[in-house]
Amino acid sequence: MRTLTILGSTGSIGESTLDVVARHPERFRVHALVANTRVDKMLAQVIAHRPQVAVMIDPAAAQTLEAAVSAQGLPTRVACGAAAAIEVAASPEADSVMAAIVGAAGLQSTLAAAQAGKRVLLANKEVLVMAGPVFMQAVEQGGATLLPIDSEHNAIFQALPHREKRGAARLLAAGVEKILLTASGGPFRQTPIEALQAITPEQAVAHPNWVMGRKISVDSATMMNKGLEVIEAHWLFDVAPEHIEVVIHPQSVIHSLVQYVDGSVIAREYACPPRLNQMR
Ligand code: NDP
Repeated sequence: MRTLTILGSTGSIGESTLDVVARHPERFRVHALVANTRVDKMLAQVIAHRPQVAVMIDPAAAQTLEAAVSAQGLPTRVACGAAAAIEVAASPEADSVMAAIVGAAGLQSTLAAAQAGKRVLLANKEVLVMAGPVFMQAVEQGGATLLPIDSEHNAIFQALPHREKRGAARLLAAGVEKILLTASGGPFRQTPIEALQAITPEQAVAHPNWVMGRKISVDSATMMNKGLEVIEAHWLFDVAPEHIEVVIHPQSVIHSLVQYVDGSVIAREYACPPRLNQMR
């Protein structure tokens, strides 16, 4: 049985994580949930998953949640603020931490989980973009296990040799030549550059293949996300940028690939095809 803390539980990744938990109650239990302001979603999650602690970063949201939790007679303790998020991320009560807060706000709690030696399920790529060396050092010194949740990187992780997941020299010795990240190209792949100025945020978040949070959807639309993913791959797998390539693949059939020195390529197919993702 794994005990989980979910940082960013009310977001797209957080909700998918809780969906997995709900389908496998014999394998997962929730210790703590963390969100910023969305009280309604958090309350529904507290009712469904009965965590020991629910943290709202926003003080007013924490107050509202506390009143609702106590009105329902639920045993969950409600806490507030960034320090509480750091505390639950490092708590000995959980062995695994899903890091799915969006953007820079996720850095401190994710770092705390790494320092505390957790199994860190890393969705928040911004942590590696902002603080790659610091974070990877915390993983090593804390004895944490780092598993990439960002799907391209997870696909690469699976296509790498069984015992050699990291380190340029070790990967080369194991025959790895290049990491290939796929990119759908987003909703504006064929939009002329001069038309981009008139694009609205709503158009930008309407990704053709995926339903995700607003920031990553905009990052995907501008292709900035792929730049962030190259940096993420660089730190995760410890390979130089010249061994990382981006391939535009609008059909989104292949998730990512690893190219070996003998010319063979191992590809991971999308576990959840684009159309199914849109139906959720
Ligand atoms: P969402 O916007 O859907 O959710 C963000 C989560 O972070 C919410 O729970 C939100 O709480 C919480 N949050 C926002 N601000 C703060 C803050 N200041 N302090 C604490 N918590 C905060 O994002 P996604 O789930 O789409 O993305 C999460 C991370 O995963 C991002 O780093 C993204 O790049 C990465 N990722 C996402 C993918 C996806 O498919 N969605 C794919 C690959 C990577 P509240 O709801 O209360 O605002």
